[in-house]
Amino acid sequence: MLRQTFLALSRQRALRHWMETSPRALRLTRRFIAGSTIDAGLDVVRRLHAERLLATLDRLGENVSTPAEAELARLQMEHALASIAAAGLPATVSIKLTQFGLDLGDQLCLDNASALVAAAARVASRVEIDMESSAYVDRTLAIVERLFADNSCLRCVLQAYLYRTPDDVQRMNRLRVPIRLCKGAYNEPRSVAHPSKSAVDRAYRELAFRLLDEGTYPAFATHDPRLIDAIIARCTRSRSDFEFQMLYGIRRDLQAQLAAQGYRVRLYVPYGDAWYPYFMRRLAERPANVFFIARNLLRA
Ligand SMILES: Cc1cc2nc3c(=O)[nH]c(=O)nc-3n(C[C@H](O)[C@H](O)[C@H](O)COP(=O)(O)OP(=O)(O)OC[C@H]3O[C@@H](n4cnc5c(N)ncnc54)[C@H](O)[C@@H]3O)c2cc1C
Repeated sequence: MLRQTFLALSRQRALRHWMETSPRALRLTRRFIAGSTIDAGLDVVRRLHAERLLATLDRLGENVSTPAEAELARLQMEHALASIAAAGLPATVSIKLTQFGLDLGDQLCLDNASALVAAAARVASRVEIDMESSAYVDRTLAIVERLFADNSCLRCVLQAYLYRTPDDVQRMNRLRVPIRLCKGAYNEPRSVAHPSKSAVDRAYRELAFRLLDEGTYPAFATHDPRLIDAIIARCTRSRSDFEFQMLYGIRRDLQAQLAAQGYRVRLYVPYGDAWYPYFMRRLAERPANVFFIARNLLRA
C-alpha cells in the first residue's frame, strides 16, 4: 500500500517541482544521490574506487519531451564518459532510453544511444541500459539488439517481476548480451508482473541461476542477502566473470563485505538535479527510509 503511494507520488509534477528546487530537500537526498554535478559524481566514484568498489554513473533524468533535451542528455553522458576516462576510473555509465528520446521516436533514440555506445567503446567503458516500466520493454530490447549488433560495449537490464522475463533472458543469452538482473521498481499491474514479493524473489533466483549457467558477464543487482548467498553457493564462475551491483547508499555493509571477499561490486551512482522520481522509488522500496528522512528533516 505504502509502496503504491510512493510510486504514485513519484509521478506528481507539482510536488516534484517543489522538491527538486528546495535546497533543504537536496541535502536530504545525499544518502542516495552523489550531488548535482558530474564533479560530485566523480568524487564519489573516486572514493568508492579507493574502497575497491566499481561504479556506474547515472545522470538522473527520464521522459524528455523534445529532441533537443534528448541530445543534451547524450552530450552530458558523453562528457561523463570523457571525465571517467580522464580520471582513469573503471566506471561505466547507466542511461534510460526515455532520457535519450524514446517517447519521441525509436530512430531518434537509437541514434543518440548509438553515438553514446561508440563513445564508450572509444574509452573502453560500457553503457548500461536501465529498464523502465513494462510499456517500454519491447522497444528497449529492440534498440538494445540493434545497438549490440554494431557494438558490444553495453549491458541491458531485465526485471525479474515481469512474467515475460524468462523468454527475454533466453533470447539475450543466445545473443550474448550482458544482462543486469534486478527485481523491478515500477508499479505494474498483476496482468504483467508477479504481485507478491515471494514470487518475485523466486523468479529472481531462477533467472539468476540461468544467467550463471548461460549468461555473458552477468550482473546481479540486488541487496537481498538471501539471493546473494544463493548466487554465491551456486556459482562456479570465476569471481571476475560476473558482478554484484547495488545502489549507492544502500546496504553499505554488504557492499564492503562482498568486496573484501574478492567479488566485483559495482554501485549505481546517480547525480543531477532531476532526482525526484529516482528518490521516490527508493522510498517505495523501503518505507523505513521515510523515517530516516524525517529524522534528518527535524535535525536540519
Ligand atoms: C544497480 C541497480 C540497478 C537497478 N536498475 C533498475 C532498472 O533498470 N529498472 C528497475 O526497474 N529497477 C532497477 N533497480 C531497482 C530494483 O529493481 C529494486 O527495486 C531494488 O534493487 C530493490 O530490490 P532488492 O533486490 O534490493 O530487494 P528487496 O527485497 O527490495 O530488498 C532487500 C533488502 O535490501 C535493502 N533495501 C532494498 N531497497 C532499499 C532501499 N531503497 N533503501 C534501503 N534499503 C533497501 C533492505 O535491507 C531490504 O530488506 C536497480 C537496482 C540496482 C541495485
